[in-house]
Amino acid sequence: MSIYNYLEVTAPCPHCGVVSTLNAEFRFGLRELTSYRVGDQLTWEGKGVRTPTHRPENGNFAGEAYAECPACGRDYWLNVRVEHDVIISYEVDADRPGYVKPDGAGEADA
Ligand SMILES: [Zn+2]
Repeated sequence: MSIYNYLEVTAPCPHCGVVSTLNAEFRFGLRELTSYRVGDQLTWEGKGVRTPTHRPENGNFAGEAYAECPACGRDYWLNVRVEHDVIISYEVDADRPGYVKPDGAGEADA
């Protein structure tokens, strides 16, 4: 079963460049459809699906989040950093391909 959390991000889409605020999905911490923002404390422990199984050392973790651009419909990944249990930052990982393929064959990501 695939349960995730949400992180509210405001980021430029690596495909179309439009800056959108959206809820990216991520799969770490206690996964129970919790909505987080940067600066929020992440819950690691609890009853349910946990990734990793227990709080990482010092509450530090480097994870990823998955976003779908509301402007162009394509998807992309973000790298998310947790330090001392707090979500401190995220950044678009423009090099990592999403699942949604561009329509035009031969179209290359810059
Ligand atoms: Zn886009």
